[in-house]
Amino acid sequence: MIKTVGILGAGQLARMLAQAGKPLGLEFIFLDPAEDACAAEFGEHICAGWDDEVALRQLGQRSDVVTFDFENVPESSASLIESLCPVYPPPRALFKSQDRMREKTMMQELGIPVAPFYPVSSRPDLAAAVEKIGLPCVLKTRRFGYDGKGQAVLRFQEDMERAWQVLGDHELICEGFVSFDVECSIIAARGKDGRTVFWPLTQNLHRDGILAISMAPAFDSQLQSRAEALIQRLLDHLDYVGVMALELFLKDGELLANEFAPRVHNSGHWTIDGDGTSQFENHLRAICGLPLGDTENSSRSLMFNLLGEMPAYAKQHLADQNAIPGVHWHDYRKTARAGRKIGHVTVVAGSEAGLRARAAQLASELGVAEELNLENVMQGLSN
Ligand code: AMP
Repeated sequence: MIKTVGILGAGQLARMLAQAGKPLGLEFIFLDPAEDACAAEFGEHICAGWDDEVALRQLGQRSDVVTFDFENVPESSASLIESLCPVYPPPRALFKSQDRMREKTMMQELGIPVAPFYPVSSRPDLAAAVEKIGLPCVLKTRRFGYDGKGQAVLRFQEDMERAWQVLGDHELICEGFVSFDVECSIIAARGKDGRTVFWPLTQNLHRDGILAISMAPAFDSQLQSRAEALIQRLLDHLDYVGVMALELFLKDGELLANEFAPRVHNSGHWTIDGDGTSQFENHLRAICGLPLGDTENSSRSLMFNLLGEMPAYAKQHLADQNAIPGVHWHDYRKTARAGRKIGHVTVVAGSEAGLRARAAQLASELGVAEELNLENVMQGLSN
């Protein structure tokens, strides 16, 4: 029986995994180089680098299973741990996701639609890629990009040189720019027996490359089935165990994949407070070989990320969670820093009208109503 779960990374995702795991009787041990890692209050924290062999061995020897909340763990570190105890999701999924070329090539081979893409290692490569794809297009670093970092949109010929000056030191990928109608993500959990459960396709709004809002359910059952079929191909191909998220663009009714995350995902945080089983609990259930929980969801949820500094309104309500029914505050207890994800709040309601009213009031109290244009975001809500 699994008792101790090791986690590579001790950020907010590890924190929420540990919170979900306590009622399952699980204990946690984290490895993370950050001294003030926010999951550390929920278990032992081995404060060491991702390539510290002694620390990796310690984690592997003391855990019954190891997972990660961070996908840039070096391949050699995951392999070292795998020689000592099971690692889920399979490190192969981690490595595919670490390099956008590898990731997109795999998706293309599996018949998952993606925007056209080419590798770029030199200035002539860039000119050739732009020639083939056409403008606008997006130049991205192949590795270590997140939350819109390490990427540039090229709209005019002269943008090429500017982008090259900034990104040219890295291995790059150039992709077609998708003028999407909306962004969405499908999140699934696959158990060791291959059984897979899905959460409702979630609509996402990004600001400056960072997720601002997620809302679910937001699409009809036909689109849901199509998204499920796409992620299922990845899950089966990788013989995956755990939670995976697939980020998608919706354009003229067609789904195009952007990237997958081999872990719990920010756009699934609403699953903690919407009914059914959360992505965090099901991730743990999957990697521990426990039966997966139900993801049936009859309520409607909208999540706002809280970035930078905790707003005064949030601080007031964090102390009294019950003050507004259907509004759930989460503080990751991280030090405030511009643009940093420091918490989230989820609004849950039984009806679309109820969700609209509660979300509009909350957006206005948080001072983000104008910037996020909630009415526009909610236009796509299905019944
Ligand atoms: P990524 O780091 O690939 O997840 O990109 C962050 C955000 O940038 C996405 O959520 C989109 O809003 C935007 N983006 C990324 N790639 C493209 C693309 N090919 N076309 C249009 N927007 C994109």
